[in-house]
Amino acid sequence: MHKDIDITLNPKQAALYDELKHAAALKSNIKEKDIVSVRYLRKSIDARRRDIKINARIRVFIGEEDEKPYDETFFSSACKRDVIIVGSGPAGLFAALTLLENGYRPIVLERGKNVHERKKDTANLNRTGVLNESSNYCFGEGGAGAFSDGKLYTRSDKRGNISKVLSLFVQHGANPEILYESHPHIGTEKLPRVIENIRNTIINYGGEVHFEALVTGLIKSNSEVIGVKSSKGDFFGPVIMATGHSSHDVYQFLYNDGYSLQAKDVAIGVRLEHPQALIDQIQYHDPRGRGKYLPAAAYSFVSQVNNRGVYSFCMCPGGFVVPAATQNGYQVVNGMSPSSRNSRWANSGMVVQLKCEDIDNKNPLSMLEYIRGVEKSCFFEGFKAPAQRMKDFVENKISDTLPDSSYIPGLVSCNLNDYLPSIVSSSLREGFLKFSSYTKGMFLTNDALMLAPETRTSSPVRILRNDEAFQIRGLYPCGEGAGYAGGIVSAALDGIFCANQVIKHYE
Ligand SMILES: Cc1cc2nc3c(=O)[nH]c(=O)nc-3n(C[C@H](O)[C@H](O)[C@H](O)COP(=O)(O)OP(=O)(O)OC[C@H]3O[C@@H](n4cnc5c(N)ncnc54)[C@H](O)[C@@H]3O)c2cc1C
Repeated sequence: MHKDIDITLNPKQAALYDELKHAAALKSNIKEKDIVSVRYLRKSIDARRRDIKINARIRVFIGEEDEKPYDETFFSSACKRDVIIVGSGPAGLFAALTLLENGYRPIVLERGKNVHERKKDTANLNRTGVLNESSNYCFGEGGAGAFSDGKLYTRSDKRGNISKVLSLFVQHGANPEILYESHPHIGTEKLPRVIENIRNTIINYGGEVHFEALVTGLIKSNSEVIGVKSSKGDFFGPVIMATGHSSHDVYQFLYNDGYSLQAKDVAIGVRLEHPQALIDQIQYHDPRGRGKYLPAAAYSFVSQVNNRGVYSFCMCPGGFVVPAATQNGYQVVNGMSPSSRNSRWANSGMVVQLKCEDIDNKNPLSMLEYIRGVEKSCFFEGFKAPAQRMKDFVENKISDTLPDSSYIPGLVSCNLNDYLPSIVSSSLREGFLKFSSYTKGMFLTNDALMLAPETRTSSPVRILRNDEAFQIRGLYPCGEGAGYAGGIVSAALDGIFCANQVIKHYE
């Protein structure tokens, strides 16, 4: 039998299995020798006070072995119909798994390389400053999240079955911790293996995955989409278009062909990098830092300035800032962390909401063009990032020196107030002052570095769809690029949703 208990632990008890078992025995009034094992069902850190607590729900197994911590999904190699999936990011991969589960055959077309080849291209970009425009931090197997922190939390819990997404990740090799942590993450060095395992499932059950297969257009018959044109030839079937938010060429061909697109509000700004030790001191209220048993601390800030949101985004404790551009001449930064989150730095996107009414919104691609303008003006040879110390930015003066950074391609000292749109820089300055006031002034420091620009927080274009009927027969715009997701889990959920719409249509 087993018994579930709610328990409050100190960091050491939460980190060490024997201590956890002992605490569970005391709390549940069961002799420790009778407990076969204990397992977390939920776990979160309460760091509101200096006396840090871990709140948990634990399953205690008495006289019986632990069971599998998730429901396994079973796939089928039946082939009711081929379905084309463009893009192998989380939206495309989870659409493929859902189709397989229901006896449909996914044919995945991916413009980039497989995840291992792709890793060499990102390493080369960091080392030499030379970008492969088809294989980089956004393009290639696994999509934009393949080399990321792999944070798996989402606020969009109404969009579908999150625990199914997490279970599928675990079934394909992710650490089962993601099933119970309140802020689960996989870690950049572990994601490629998980992605490769998903690819193997697709292929083992009869699906196809084609790399370096750039889709350049849709094939239509009467008013129905019946396939795609690609660099590997034409493919036929209904099309799930899960191309992410960096495929400007896709937006362009859809626009040229008269598909319904709409410009979208976005949020842009910078990556902000602090010493992790300082973030630990702030968040754990302890000048000695996090100690032996607590993880690298995270933060989340949000405020309203000038009637628009200013907030931290995609925080990567113990992480690295990376060059996330997809085109030469256009600079973009983003962040990632290994599973251990053990680098010397903490980074996050610090972004300001940009509304369509802020720009000259003349057509559906206006926001995209606006953002590309910012990326272009921030470009320096070799993808060196324009950078400034945080306090200098607020005081509007160029930094004489720059601190050490995790960003490998290099830095160029600039006054970022001159590189970011003024509405963004003025809102960021005010936002930083507010965030600092929440932290007794510790957050706003010249030990922190800003790197520009963070522009790919969400899609600047929405490919319109009507969830019940979809706009165009045979075409299913999906995931972040279509404007219906923002992050790994919500993209995966949208992939599942779109696959189910295809299935519903044919059944
Ligand atoms: C460095 C980095 C770190 C991130 N960290 C996190 C994180 O920790 N947690 C989180 O939730 N989110 C994170 N994100 C965001 C997250 O990765 C995206 O929200 C998510 O990947 C979107 O999924 P998607 O499947 O909709 O699109 P994408 O992941 O962008 O996938 C689209 C795929 O389509 C392919 N493609 C594009 N055009 C074509 C074409 N014409 N033909 C064929 N293939 C094409 C692309 O190569 C790509 O592989 C991060 C992003 C980056 C860049």
